[in-house]
Amino acid sequence: MRFALSCLVGAVGAWLWRPPHESSVACYQGIHNPLSFRNKQRPGQVFSQRYERYQLGEVIPITSDVALFRFLLHDPEDEFNLKPCSTLQACYKYGVQPTEQCQRFYTPVTSNHTKGFFDLIVKRKTEGLMTNHLFGMHIGDTLLFRSVAFKIQYRPNRWQHVGMIGGGTGFTPFLQIIRHALTERWDSGEVDKTRLSFLFCNRTERHILLGGVFDDLAERFSNRFRVFYTIDLAVDKETWMKKSNHFLGYVSPEMVKASMPAPDEKNKIIMLCGPDPLLSHVAGTPLSTMSSMSGSLNIQPMATDINNLVSLGGILGELGYDNNEVYRF
Ligand SMILES: Cc1cc2nc3c(=O)[nH]c(=O)nc-3n(C[C@H](O)[C@H](O)[C@H](O)COP(=O)(O)OP(=O)(O)OC[C@H]3O[C@@H](n4cnc5c(N)ncnc54)[C@H](O)[C@@H]3O)c2cc1C
Repeated sequence: MRFALSCLVGAVGAWLWRPPHESSVACYQGIHNPLSFRNKQRPGQVFSQRYERYQLGEVIPITSDVALFRFLLHDPEDEFNLKPCSTLQACYKYGVQPTEQCQRFYTPVTSNHTKGFFDLIVKRKTEGLMTNHLFGMHIGDTLLFRSVAFKIQYRPNRWQHVGMIGGGTGFTPFLQIIRHALTERWDSGEVDKTRLSFLFCNRTERHILLGGVFDDLAERFSNRFRVFYTIDLAVDKETWMKKSNHFLGYVSPEMVKASMPAPDEKNKIIMLCGPDPLLSHVAGTPLSTMSSMSGSLNIQPMATDINNLVSLGGILGELGYDNNEVYRF
């Protein structure tokens, strides 16, 4: 009887017992990744406002310091879906202190409805915290991402004319808006008539990323979309300047006049994204204001509109644009 009883206690004990490493692994996972939560997805949404891990699936080098990073969605059937103007914020923890983490914004270049993955085009910065981490990642490694919505949101016919000035990898929020405005079918059935003008600033012709995508959209939707390019230096100045949408040098008042909605045009907006010196040159934004959004700091603000809390200056200020009609990403 005693033997049968001890067998029964042993069997129940064995059923209840879990190997210690299983529970400790789960426990350490929580400490290892306190920022990561797995939320229930709302229909049509694959990103959450809380950080979740996404696996790196592929890296495609584009130039010596720019690469495309393909991250996998949790389910291959999940559709990438990020509305303009929303972006992703990446985060990695390199220490145990709450401040020992790095957060940076990246707007994917992926078209909405793409199944299974999203792509970031990232330029590596010398001494850059996040970009050096990204360029050191291996296939299969994971990175935390959450979605962040900007105060400004694109809706069909909200503005008659949207002007955009982007520098280098600062083109990504504009590709999202332009592609969405030109190719998305709106649930409301509304026909979007918004005109779009994009001035893309780069160091040389070779530094222009996805120029073919913008040229193709400008050709297919010539009644709504115009693209302009300016480069600091041209290999062959004469050949470069043959095209009417090409400029040479830093953004100037003449370039703005030729490419952007005019200051007296009604119902317009001009959006800016790019290196801090470009925003400072075009809109007079102080470099000290921009550093919380663009770099050097570990933790970035969840409120993404800090660059817009200062008055307008620079070329746009000189030309008489209204501060409320300019938005700095
Ligand atoms: C809406 C939005 C979308 C964006 N999308 C993209 C995108 O698609 N692709 C992309 O590549 N970028 C994008 N960016 C920029 C991106 O968020 C990062 O700012 C960029 O990748 C640099 O991050 P980092 O951590 O590598 O560099 P950081 O560490 O932030 O450094 C940035 C620069 O500051 C210098 N620096 C660092 N620390 C110091 C210090 N203590 N003192 C002085 N200088 C210092 C570095 O040398 C470096 O040149 C976007 C930004 C915004 C706002």
